[in-house]
Amino acid sequence: MTDFGFTLTKSSTINFDSLDNHLYKRLCTIEPDAQICMSCGSCSATCTAAPFSGMSVRKVILGLQRGQDVRPLLSNCMLCGKCTMVCPRAINTRHLLLTLYRIYD
Ligand code: SF4
Ligand code: SF4
Repeated sequence: MTDFGFTLTKSSTINFDSLDNHLYKRLCTIEPDAQICMSCGSCSATCTAAPFSGMSVRKVILGLQRGQDVRPLLSNCMLCGKCTMVCPRAINTRHLLLTLYRIYD
């Protein structure tokens, strides 16, 4: 086989249609604002829990869209509301997280 000096890696494309994101869809019916998150990261930058836990509303929303279990992240949230104050899309992130807690219950 010819050596071209590089190798092809597996595509990292995510096929959202193949994912089980029913929790995200359910969250969106209760909290439609979950759909307008633009993943800017402002909530991550100001999160009180982020420095020691990696908590971030951005990660929670993206994880739900990808069908991941975000409970380990959620358990680090202190519901302080700092993320709500900085969201440029004015998403009530604190309320969104509370709704998610209730969905998981
Ligand atoms: S600050 Fe708001 S828009 Fe930005 S990632 Fe967080 S929730 Fe999404
Ligand atoms: S409410 Fe939760 S996610 Fe938002 S800044 Fe506070 S600890 Fe972080």
